[in-house]
Amino acid sequence: MERAEQFFPEKEVISRTLGGVSTFTYREIGKRTRRLASALADLGVNRGDRVGTLAWNHHRHLEAYFAAPGMGAVLHTINIRLSPEHIVYIINNAEDKVLLVDEDVWPLVEKVRDQLKSVEAFIIMTDSQELPDSEDSSLYSYEQLLEKGDERFEFVKDLDENEPAGLCYTSATTGNPKGVVYSHRGIVLHCFALGLADTAGLSEEDRCMPVVPMFHVNAWGLPFAATMLGTTQILPGPQFTPKLLADFIESEKVTITAGVPTIWLGLLNELESGSYDTSSLRAVLCGGSAAPLGMIRAYETKYKIPFLHAYGMTETSPLVTVSKLKSYQADLNEEEKLDVRAKQGLLVPGLEMKVVGEHGEVEWNGEDMGELMLRGPWIANEYFRDERSEEAFRDGWLHTGDVVTVDKEGVIKIVDRTKDLIKSGGEWISSVDIENTLMAHEAVFEASVIAVAHPEWQERPVACVVLKEEERDRVSKEDLMAYLKPQFAKWWLPDDIVFLEEIPKTSVGKFLKRSLRDQLKDHLAVK
Ligand code: ADP
Repeated sequence: MERAEQFFPEKEVISRTLGGVSTFTYREIGKRTRRLASALADLGVNRGDRVGTLAWNHHRHLEAYFAAPGMGAVLHTINIRLSPEHIVYIINNAEDKVLLVDEDVWPLVEKVRDQLKSVEAFIIMTDSQELPDSEDSSLYSYEQLLEKGDERFEFVKDLDENEPAGLCYTSATTGNPKGVVYSHRGIVLHCFALGLADTAGLSEEDRCMPVVPMFHVNAWGLPFAATMLGTTQILPGPQFTPKLLADFIESEKVTITAGVPTIWLGLLNELESGSYDTSSLRAVLCGGSAAPLGMIRAYETKYKIPFLHAYGMTETSPLVTVSKLKSYQADLNEEEKLDVRAKQGLLVPGLEMKVVGEHGEVEWNGEDMGELMLRGPWIANEYFRDERSEEAFRDGWLHTGDVVTVDKEGVIKIVDRTKDLIKSGGEWISSVDIENTLMAHEAVFEASVIAVAHPEWQERPVACVVLKEEERDRVSKEDLMAYLKPQFAKWWLPDDIVFLEEIPKTSVGKFLKRSLRDQLKDHLAVK
């Protein structure tokens, strides 16, 4: 933040809130951040205390990103899409002292307020100065607090680089969410990693729009890195639509944006129905779940928008791999290039990996599968106050739970999560491969392949497919089966294809396979 104030005071942060779109310079953001830090100190926030946020991507959230760590406190971003029970668990587990809450998220927090054990003050992030309920003594208006704050507040100078700066809980597909602590050191080194030409190459020249929420792995670290580099930031705010993103890309000349595949599928639909100038885009950073090859192809060939497929997780800050061609792969044909780019890519400098199968480390032959293990400066080494740490971080490595292959170039491909692999007659089937092939079909909007119990084979794959609206009467189950047949070994072919209106999704937009498995658990037994 100090660097942005010093060298890029006139560069801008464009922020959308419920009140509309406003522009701030880094000079202003710096002063507002210092005012916020001084206000937090006045409210009793001390070094090491957790400051929770429940907020969308906007300038106030960005200010909190720097105010809390800047004063030696810990920024705890809370996923607003989690269930109320999980939100209560997370806040109590983290012992947040203060919560910064968006105006439209406040009703959710208000409902569970009685169950929050540690919170002493709620700061409502609203455009208006006044709060409707001004009688409530633990409720504060963000802008009022800032007005009283000190814009010359000094950030702490004697921080140890290993002190905690951030905390984020994974969205928990099973059990309670697990907290991951980010150190100052990890966050800073991760910023450097995002700036490498061979990863995202983030730079001062960019106009960066993180669509991935700031409550999800620090919006992949982009707000930190962009501020460090003086990059223009475009923060799309609450309840955005694909149209709003497309409009922002055009009007703000966004050069790099980041989000999960669901976002890009939605944007693709929007680009197909409207007319937008997207020529400013140099990279769409896509991660969080596998980017379907068909989608990468559509973006690159039809819209000339370069796609960057990346992999990571909450435990890894998140950047782990980015998929780019090596210089000597330039003479591969277009399809071969796409095949490489649809894989998760190469490990970024600074990290170490190993892939362990049933018989130890696997060969790098693109076929042998094993669990990916990671370590390095921005890889967590424990969960916050959680007994599940021992299992996930044994032997000094993060056990990712992701099953991968590594090809001879060192490029990893995620085959599945350990819990989503389908075990049929003692052999593994990768649900991801079948999904990607289905999603490359022109009539298919989304596809998710799950394991369903089978009396003879233990498990068999069943595909859940959402067709594009205009194709719903035209394409049948048999058409899709005929399309899959030449592309897979016979025993990999799904036993059934079920058409759905929509695939249930997790709070961060990933396919919720657990819910599909519940829905279809007796599907093959009954048939
Ligand atoms: P959660 O664990 O709650 O789903 P995370 O964002 O931490 O939230 O998810 C990380 C997981 O997402 C990884 O372990 C991996 O399974 C999956 N993932 C992330 N990026 C990719 C990708 N590019 N391709 C396939 N899977 C991915």
